[in-house]
Amino acid sequence: MLRVISPVLAIGSLILLGACATTPKTAVKNTTKTFDTVVVDAGHGGKDNGAYRRYGPPEKMATLDVAQRLERKLRESQVKTVMTRSSDVFIPLNDRVSIENAQKKAIFVSIHFNDSRRRGIHGFETYYHSSASFDLANQIQGKLMTIPHSANRGVHTANFRVLRLATCPAVLVECGFLSNRAEGNQARDWEYRELLADRIANAIVDQRYGPGVYRGSAQVAAQSQPQPTSNGTGVTPTSSQR
Ligand SMILES: [Zn+2]
Repeated sequence: MLRVISPVLAIGSLILLGACATTPKTAVKNTTKTFDTVVVDAGHGGKDNGAYRRYGPPEKMATLDVAQRLERKLRESQVKTVMTRSSDVFIPLNDRVSIENAQKKAIFVSIHFNDSRRRGIHGFETYYHSSASFDLANQIQGKLMTIPHSANRGVHTANFRVLRLATCPAVLVECGFLSNRAEGNQARDWEYRELLADRIANAIVDQRYGPGVYRGSAQVAAQSQPQPTSNGTGVTPTSSQR
């Protein structure tokens, strides 16, 4: 942190602040009570593995599986869905933003798993950017906390591009730490990923229609168990693609 600010820097900062003040903010339409479509975003994919840790599957595989389960549950609740990816492909962040902003009455939900150098760190986090997204973030975090032994790392604001540039309510869910032994092992288990998808779907339907409408469906067995990637390097720790 820079504590002594030189006059030159201070003037520079003022100019920057002036520039920021005139930059139009992304206009967000608050559709949290009216949306008819959920854009489901499976984080990472293709050459971008996301977090890649000893205990869990590659993040990109776990996010895709949870996203697909979430999509199915939303459709069963008569909610339309759009997936930013349905296979192991790389989708640039700007393309994800284009997909989310192409929908008229939508919300955007991005699925990720977390990573830390400190293996003890565990728990769920949900991120948002616009104030219109706060209720949805809170709803999802609250439902994830009904999972036994879950740890609450809170609802926070973040500047992730898919959130910052969204014109609809948009949240990013961190479904536990692949770097933590217990949560990494759970992420390998399809029944646990089904549970994650169920809680997130429940939160989304509650947000739209109120409590009591969501009917959780029977569990669907593993269709695509995460497989280790075969790029040969073994470790590709990048979590920059959000
Ligand atoms: Zn991620």
